[in-house]
Amino acid sequence: MDDTIRRLKELTDSSDNIVFFGGAGVSTESGIPDFRSVDGLYHQKFRYPPETMLSHTFYETHTEEFYDFYRAKMLALDAQPNAAHRKLAEWERQGKLKAVITQNIDGLHQKAGSRKVLELHGSVLRNHCTRCGQFYGVERIVNSRGVPRCSCGGIIKPDVVLYEESLDEDVMAEAIHYIRQADMLIIGGTSLVVYPAAGLVQYYRGHKLAVINKGGAGSGLGAAVTVDAPIGQVMAQL
Ligand code: ZN
Repeated sequence: MDDTIRRLKELTDSSDNIVFFGGAGVSTESGIPDFRSVDGLYHQKFRYPPETMLSHTFYETHTEEFYDFYRAKMLALDAQPNAAHRKLAEWERQGKLKAVITQNIDGLHQKAGSRKVLELHGSVLRNHCTRCGQFYGVERIVNSRGVPRCSCGGIIKPDVVLYEESLDEDVMAEAIHYIRQADMLIIGGTSLVVYPAAGLVQYYRGHKLAVINKGGAGSGLGAAVTVDAPIGQVMAQL
């Protein structure tokens, strides 16, 4: 075991109030690509960059194209939790971890057994009619063509926070609450450049900040330990 991982294990072993904050890197080891990373496939099949197609403006003005992209690229329903998801769920069962805060929308933490999951950007698994509010599971989106419609005629929209849309204030407030009272905060798989990751870290008041990130992002945060490796591989050793 490498020294930084041994140090990380010492910190997690001695903590009983861990909060985990994760980003896209947590899902990549489950085969879900980070749509922000450069991917030629997008450019071959779609005429706009992902950030454009996942914006509220695009949803409003190119609704059918939005759903074509969304069905093709944002739904990965066969993906399975990896070692990072499983370890976090195990820690919660043991009472060591109090909350998972995630920027991911794939529901993999819940699939691994985590219960307290704060989804800053929503979830593809929840969808609502924009006219009557009727709830729909993801199958309704998968099995629709063009713009998915409710029986009332309204458009069914995923509970996913698009670019230009604001985050759910209740979820943010709860995330801040958990980070404030955490004895250990682990940040994993996020470059910390995407709002609100960097802002949330400032609420942490403890001395056991850990950053696990392939590529070295977050090394300037003054963390007690920083691990530059894929998060699933790291957490499998804890
Ligand atoms: Zn409806």
